[in-house]
Amino acid sequence: MKKVKEKISIIVPCYNEEESLPIFYKEIGKIADEMNYVDFEFLFIDDGSKDKTLEYLKDYARKDKRVRFISFSRNFGKEAGMYAGLENATGDYVAIMDADMQDSPSMIKEMYKYITEDGYDCAALYTKNHKDYSLLRKFFTKCWYLLIKKISSTKQVSGARDFRLMKRKMVNAILDMDEYNRYSKGIFSFVGFKTKWIEYETNDRVAGKSKFNFFKLFKYALEGILAFSTTPLVAAALVGLIFCFVAFVAILFIIFKTLIYGDPVGGWPSLACIIIFTSGVQLFFFGIMGMYLSKTYLEVKKRPIYIIRETDQDQEPLFKGEKL
Ligand code: UDP
Ligand code: MG
Repeated sequence: MKKVKEKISIIVPCYNEEESLPIFYKEIGKIADEMNYVDFEFLFIDDGSKDKTLEYLKDYARKDKRVRFISFSRNFGKEAGMYAGLENATGDYVAIMDADMQDSPSMIKEMYKYITEDGYDCAALYTKNHKDYSLLRKFFTKCWYLLIKKISSTKQVSGARDFRLMKRKMVNAILDMDEYNRYSKGIFSFVGFKTKWIEYETNDRVAGKSKFNFFKLFKYALEGILAFSTTPLVAAALVGLIFCFVAFVAILFIIFKTLIYGDPVGGWPSLACIIIFTSGVQLFFFGIMGMYLSKTYLEVKKRPIYIIRETDQDQEPLFKGEKL
């Protein structure tokens, strides 16, 4: 009996990638042809692009039965794109890849080997040197990893890329974590499984610009902390306790000083400073609590992670026969 070929689904979140997409599509097609011992499904997620990304995807899907696409009703962010891809992929193995070719799609061959021959559940890339990052982004990235290592019990590999190939079992475990505030790097690590980390030197973007500005990255970094650590809340309680202790010692000191030296009026500037300082600290920690509360609020609302406007199923294929 002929053995049924296994299938790899390649998920590609795309936001305004009209420049990179044709290059990426050509390259991934070549790799799929080389790896003819396995079937492929290319699942592109158009994250509300405003350029010709969707037009290209429609064209590819009409001509190539391996191509599927999901187009969102607006920009929901890369995390939502990855989740939609994982939910809709049908492969025995699932890969997530960016459209900009910073991580070469050809790495998929090596990843597939690690999984099928060496018994890993997942193969993923990490980089030691973010060539494309500005000095400031490199600095903040380093600080962030140092911080998260200290305050979270979920291990995060420094320099981990989103590019990875996973077994179906791992994908299903990730899908069980259907939280609204998604931080996939943490989720991948939380679900566990045996992962082969491959060191890789990232390339420059093949075309177009990074979609993450400083503000977006800052929000993403914060998301990672709020989703995988409650240490800031413990820190708030600890600082509160330390302040109470300091206040207690200060009160004792003032009482004894007054008893010994009398009560000359004075010291109001220092008092004003103390009041401003403590209320600042209080507001800061209220803010932290507010952030956790707002995340809880969004989770409780159970809003959809993404909304689909159209998919490849809405158009007629050019080729005859079954759609994938
Ligand atoms: N992306 C997305 N939605 C967004 C932003 C980015 O789907 O809101 C996609 C983007 O098209 C690319 C991938 O996510 O395929 C990574 O984005 P980018 O290369 O801009 O990020 P960087 O590599 O600079 O971190
Ligand atoms: Mg990129």
